[in-house]
Amino acid sequence: MELSYTRYRIYRECPWKYKLIFQDGRRIPPTAKSSFGLSLHRALEAWLSGGDDSEDALSRALRAAWRGDGYPDEDAESRWYSKAERALLRFRDEELSRRSRVIALEKEFIWELGPHTVRGMIDRIDQGPDGAYELIDYKTGPSAPTPAQVAADAQLRFYALGARRALGLSPATVTVDCVVAGPRVSAAYDPSGEAALTADASAVADAIERASFSPDTSYCPRCDFRRDCAHSTAVGG
Ligand code: SF4
Repeated sequence: MELSYTRYRIYRECPWKYKLIFQDGRRIPPTAKSSFGLSLHRALEAWLSGGDDSEDALSRALRAAWRGDGYPDEDAESRWYSKAERALLRFRDEELSRRSRVIALEKEFIWELGPHTVRGMIDRIDQGPDGAYELIDYKTGPSAPTPAQVAADAQLRFYALGARRALGLSPATVTVDCVVAGPRVSAAYDPSGEAALTADASAVADAIERASFSPDTSYCPRCDFRRDCAHSTAVGG
C-alpha cells in the first residue's frame, strides 16, 4: 500500500469516499477553484526555479501554467486569471524581500512504514539565515489561517514527518503561504505528535489494504458525492 497525504485525508474524511475515488475510479470534476490553485502552484514552481525573478518571467510562468478547465465561461476565466496575476505580483514583492533561501521546490519524500510506503511532495523548503528549516505549503484560498491552525494543519504535519523520516530534515517552522489572501502565516513545529500520526497513517494503510470502507456519514454535508452516493445522508444538499 502506497499512502499519500491525499489518500490519507480522503480515507479519514470517509472510507467510502476513498473507495469511490481510488477503487471505483470516480472522478471529481475540475472546478474554477481547483484549476486556479493548480495553475498558481505550477506557475510559482516554474518561476522560482527559472532563475529570472522579473515580473515578465512571472507572467510567462502563469501563462504557461494556466489551466482553463472548470470555469463556467470565458468571462469567469478571465476574472480568475486577473486574480491570479494580482496574487502573483503581491507574492513576488514579498518573495524578493525574504531573507531565507529556497533549498527545495516540489520536494518528494518516500519512506517505509512497516509493509507500506508513504510518499508525498512538499511545496517548498527554505533555510533561514540561522540555518533553521522552514517547511512551506502554498494555499490559494480566499482567507488566511491563524497560527494555531497552521500548527495543527494535518497536511503540514504529514509533510514534516515525511521530511524527517525520508530527508533527515527537521523543520523548526511550518508555514502556510497564502498566495492570494497574503501574508504568510507561520508556527513553530512541534514534533511531539509524530508517533501518533505515524500510528494513524499505519492504521489507515492497513484498513485500505483490508478493503475496509465503511461509510462515515458525518462527512456527507461536505462531500462531493453527497447527491448521488448510495450511503449519503445529505441527499439534495
Ligand atoms: S456522501 Fe457520505 S457516505 Fe457517501 S462518500 Fe460522501 S461522505 Fe461518504
